Amino acid sequence: MDLEYSFLADTYEKIEATTSRTAMTDYLVVLFSKTPPEVIDKVVYLTQGKLYPDYIGIELGIAEKMAMRALATAIGVSIKVIEQEYKKLGDIGLVAEKMLTKYKPVSITHFFEGVEVARKLTVSVVYEKLEKIAKATGEGSQDLKISLLASILKDASPKEAKYILRTVTGRLRLGIADMTILDALAIAFTGSKSARDVIERAYNVHPDLGYIAKKLALEGIEGVKMIKIKVGIPIQPMLAERLNNPKEILGKLGGKCVVEYKYDGERIQAHKNGDEVALFSRRLENITHHYPDVVDMVRKHVKAKEAIVEGECVAVNPDTGEMLPFQELMHRRRKYGVEEAMEMYPVHFFLFDLLYLNGVEYISKPYLERRKKLEEVVEETDYISLAEARIVDDPLELDKFFEQAISDGCEGIMCKSVSSDSIYQMGARGWLWIKYKRDYRYEMTDTVDLVVVGAFYGKGKRAGTYGALLMAAYNPEKDVFETVCKVGSGFTDEDLAKLPELLAQYKIDHRHPRVLSKLEADVWFVPAVVLEIIGAEITLSPLHTCAFGKIREEAGLAIRFPRFTGRYRFDKKAEQATTTKELIEMYKSQKKTAS
Ligand code: ATP
Repeated sequence: MDLEYSFLADTYEKIEATTSRTAMTDYLVVLFSKTPPEVIDKVVYLTQGKLYPDYIGIELGIAEKMAMRALATAIGVSIKVIEQEYKKLGDIGLVAEKMLTKYKPVSITHFFEGVEVARKLTVSVVYEKLEKIAKATGEGSQDLKISLLASILKDASPKEAKYILRTVTGRLRLGIADMTILDALAIAFTGSKSARDVIERAYNVHPDLGYIAKKLALEGIEGVKMIKIKVGIPIQPMLAERLNNPKEILGKLGGKCVVEYKYDGERIQAHKNGDEVALFSRRLENITHHYPDVVDMVRKHVKAKEAIVEGECVAVNPDTGEMLPFQELMHRRRKYGVEEAMEMYPVHFFLFDLLYLNGVEYISKPYLERRKKLEEVVEETDYISLAEARIVDDPLELDKFFEQAISDGCEGIMCKSVSSDSIYQMGARGWLWIKYKRDYRYEMTDTVDLVVVGAFYGKGKRAGTYGALLMAAYNPEKDVFETVCKVGSGFTDEDLAKLPELLAQYKIDHRHPRVLSKLEADVWFVPAVVLEIIGAEITLSPLHTCAFGKIREEAGLAIRFPRFTGRYRFDKKAEQATTTKELIEMYKSQKKTAS
């Protein structure tokens, strides 16, 4: 059983012409009702302008130029003619429609028992040829794609050609949301929208509209109810509401919640099945190939045969473990050279949820139970660990944690319900998760000169030297040095090589009495060496002693994303470093920008 492609083209034309969402749904209901169950999945995919759900990662992606060549081949005119039309009309679909009307391609008709009959394009034929086009790779694939596309166009009517070329070039913009398709499927196969919730649940667990449509058509709503989580098929992610007031947040969450760092990276849903691991993005694209290192971490350190875990992947400085700004992670988005990118921009995977484990669905279990299980299953290393978290019931505590998260390079915090009904709400934005971010970011416009008061041993490439230095500002009133940041970025290999030697003469085996620090350094120094530092902004942090309690109780000033500029200020004595007072002024006069 098949369906004529012309039925699709007619429906698309009606959908394009309407401004009413109800009418759009109605046209889809008619289309789905008329479609034989065998091809309903194909009809749904084509209507979405694709061949598979996004997470499969196979795209049609035919360039306009190639579509023009196929059209020229189909109707036997020169590519120049097509290009001229394209310049005029600007839409490859309209060009195809016009050209086919003008030059009827040879095989639109054929003879059957001596009578001329039109050759009909069916959904299966179109779909299968498009599939071949999408999968063709390597030598000769361009020509193969062109001839396949031309063969479809030869059998197409002008209207069909319009939609086919728009589909292959990714320009079939009917503007139909997945939710509209779900509505139409519910009406077409159950007679009313009342089954919509059941269908939507299935869609959240298995976001493949073609698959759901086919299940509905063949097995009815009972079949859809049976759809379960499957390792390898991404689940629609849970989303958070937003509030910016600690009291309100706690109020919403019943006075108590888990607060977690809100890492500024890329959300990853990792699926593990034995040794096989697949990674999906927030938009459910398959991003496995961007992160071979994360694949490896999950394979080795998620101790389960089958599991689905979620977390945020953040770029880090491999030597110091410091988190780096989001932009650094974007180097992983390149098509080629992932291996080099992996070396140059290593990542840390911070896990925050467990959705499935060895045959058991965890999505309906309360958050604390999910998190506890996650702790059991994950073997933490320097590169994979659970998101920093704690339980709080006091707004002040919550705010402190927030400031700490910001100065550690996070975007803010996630506040999560710990109630007994704190399930994983697939595909929904609800109040079980509340994000607390800042609306603005303060820009640090000037450099500061800070004193080296301590150091931390390096790891990896920096083994044998220092990974990060503990830096302090000078407080002349008290004649002490107050810490502002740990800096590990901005040092060249040469700098790193000479640091131990440079600092050796100042090394002492305890914190210097004029140094105030809450952090325990691996090595302490007499305050002497001054370095020029720049950062993204000056923030509040409970971990640093600079101006502690001056701006906010229990918090000092810190520099976020600090970096050595390359300038050693040997011309300055420690007491000539930037003062605490200057940092307070800088903090107060920082320029606010939208984040
Ligand atoms: P949204 O995802 O809410 O539509 P968005 O894409 O702008 O909005 P954010 O405002 O950054 O995202 O907030 C949610 C995102 O925060 C999550 O999708 C996830 O990627 C990220 N995140 C970081 N840390 C955590 C955490 N500990 N728990 C949950 N999500 C976290």
